Amino acid sequence: MIVVPLGIASATPTAIRHLPSVALWREGSVFLFDCGENAQMCMLQAGLKRSKIDSIFITHFDVDHYSGLMGLISTLQLQRRDKTLNLVGPKGIKEFVEWNLSFSGVEISFDINYVEVEEEASEAKVLETEDYYVEARPLKHKKFCLGYRFQEKDKPGKVDAEKAAQFGITEDEQFKLLKSGQNITLEDGTVVESYEIVGHPRPGDSFAYVTDTEYCPNAVKLAMNTNILYHEATFSNQLADKAKETGHSTAADAARVATEAQTKLLVIGHFSARYTNLHVLLKEARDAFYPTWLAQELRPIFTDPIHERGILSPKVDLIDLTKKKPNSRQGYSKGPRSGGRPGGRPSGNKNFRPRKGRDGAPSGGNRGNYHSGGYQQRNDRYRQDGGYRGSSQNNGYRGSSQERGYRGSSQGGRDYSNSDRNNRYEDKPNKSITPRTGYDDFDRF
Ligand SMILES: [Zn+2]
Repeated sequence: MIVVPLGIASATPTAIRHLPSVALWREGSVFLFDCGENAQMCMLQAGLKRSKIDSIFITHFDVDHYSGLMGLISTLQLQRRDKTLNLVGPKGIKEFVEWNLSFSGVEISFDINYVEVEEEASEAKVLETEDYYVEARPLKHKKFCLGYRFQEKDKPGKVDAEKAAQFGITEDEQFKLLKSGQNITLEDGTVVESYEIVGHPRPGDSFAYVTDTEYCPNAVKLAMNTNILYHEATFSNQLADKAKETGHSTAADAARVATEAQTKLLVIGHFSARYTNLHVLLKEARDAFYPTWLAQELRPIFTDPIHERGILSPKVDLIDLTKKKPNSRQGYSKGPRSGGRPGGRPSGNKNFRPRKGRDGAPSGGNRGNYHSGGYQQRNDRYRQDGGYRGSSQNNGYRGSSQERGYRGSSQGGRDYSNSDRNNRYEDKPNKSITPRTGYDDFDRF
């Protein structure tokens, strides 16, 4: 299974983050968890075909989680889809889709298999096939909200071909019976038992999608022993009150669920627009649960990297977060930092101008500001506890947004390329680097 985050923002999209949606690829089919605005475009960028969508799971009716749904259904119609689409969500999803279709006078060419979960339900198996099933459980949010778990059924063990040849087993039918656990009788009367040829069954992969919830036991149940848990981490600890008030989780809450559920990998997403440097969230989660990753839009996460690498190739360039940008420290010496101040700037940089901090005192320099193109106030706070100064991931986010061609319009035409950043320091040391982002709506999320 391959998990591809398509949108990692919370309620409001930002210049570089889309509204919530996560795709799960399995054996050529795509399962969409939430469908925020632009999910279908992100699918294309991720190298996922919309025609391969098998099922869509909507968690709840906050608009950011389903605002891309009608657009996607319309595209499927224009593509003349004829395969049934499974559409799972809280009660009301059918009414919503049918009303929209009749409002616009569209008659779709394919069937939609609606699976609606009532508010009273404590758990529900919303989908089941021979190979997998999907389970839903209510979470703890301001409105009725479902979490999902996609569970592959155990796969039969591997057939020992050599042994089979020794027994003289050649027929497909014989293999099929053995794989299903039955014994067979050969022509000469020999009984071959299944366990002699077939290895132990292999546990199926699993994925849990838990978003828009406070910590709750159902989240742990959904995530129990999963390969990958995608969990919201809207806020940092500092805003734990706000998280509670709005029915959301902090990064530490996500880590708590991951710890209790003993998931193998926690991926955090659904970030509040206020965080331009996500490493504060990563740090908080990793303090409690180390195998945590930050979701990055379009970057695939594999349950079986050896076999799955290369199956999906994003159609846009992604920055390798594990590598530093070659010139990310351009202009700085690599020696010890000057003055012993936390976050102190190396001496001898001709571009450096002392800058006043918020309290009017010189702020003591800040490499991270330099990297992150002008978001220094927020970064300052994190830098002091010594965390994640390199900020390579932050660079990655910015880099990817550039590569995806968003720079010109979404960042107001400002140019963050290295040389220009140097110039900005030179020309206007103070005012021009104060954040003036498009993130104008911090109040709710
Ligand atoms: Zn949300």
